[in-house]
Amino acid sequence: SRSINVSLIGNPNTGKTSLFNRLTGLNQKVGNYPGITVEKKEGVCKLDRGLKAHILDLPGTYSLNTSSLDESVVVETLLNRNSRDFPDVAVVVSDIENIKRNLLLFTQIKDLEIPTILAINMADRMQRKAITLDIELMEAELNTKVVLVSARKNQGINDLKDAITQYKTLNTQPCVNASVIDPEYFARLKKAYPHQLLYKLWLVITQDVNFGKVERDRDYEKLKTSSFDIKSEEDLKRLQHKETVVRYQFINGLLKKVLHVDTSHAKDLRSKLD
Ligand code: GDP
Ligand code: MG
Repeated sequence: SRSINVSLIGNPNTGKTSLFNRLTGLNQKVGNYPGITVEKKEGVCKLDRGLKAHILDLPGTYSLNTSSLDESVVVETLLNRNSRDFPDVAVVVSDIENIKRNLLLFTQIKDLEIPTILAINMADRMQRKAITLDIELMEAELNTKVVLVSARKNQGINDLKDAITQYKTLNTQPCVNASVIDPEYFARLKKAYPHQLLYKLWLVITQDVNFGKVERDRDYEKLKTSSFDIKSEEDLKRLQHKETVVRYQFINGLLKKVLHVDTSHAKDLRSKLD
């Protein structure tokens, strides 16, 4: 039977492991990444049409602009197309109450042009918190498949499995144009590497700054980083901050259109979203 790689990616405490358990049941094993103490959870989920999903429960991360070893595992998994774990489909797990912050990571992964599903977890809380979400509009605006799930209540899991089974139909268009981070710099990058993904090049460069060279695709190996060196830690921080601002502009615009909270019921939630 055919087998595909599925990575569960998301902020800490969004329910990745709960969802992983729902998808894999007892078909799972826990190990470590080679050379480091970061835990590696893998499992198998049988899908329709003889398809088998090899599921990886990646460490929680807030952003691909990594600051820890745990998080760099996520970036490395996404940068190396030849690695055993490279995802055929990424499932970004978000929780409904922190959706704004969760979407930051989603837009970054989407910009790598990996087929991506957005699984919005903890849907069981929506009614009590008086939250409504226009899923269709959200799918159109994000160029992606969106599935509402509750790992706790075992709801939406089959919808998620169906979405994974149909991963080949997923749109791989980015949501945010990375060039606006620094138009002059990205124009130079584009000229030197016309066929590469700009955001992926950007991640390779910034990852090198933080962690030294990591394994990656052949195409991205040849990068002459010297001519694209980021001069200082301050410059890197400034550009990464700019990236965050640009992404949140997009996300705020999106949430205004698709998310509604009945404020008479949910003051504390409102303050988290604003
Ligand atoms: P991870 O850090 O992303 O792996 O998240 P976990 O799976 O460890 O879950 C974090 C917390 O959220 C735990 O307390 C879970 O019981 C809870 N949780 C997970 N899924 C759901 C859900 O669908 N609904 C609710 N209400 N809580 C959930
Ligand atoms: Mg976990």
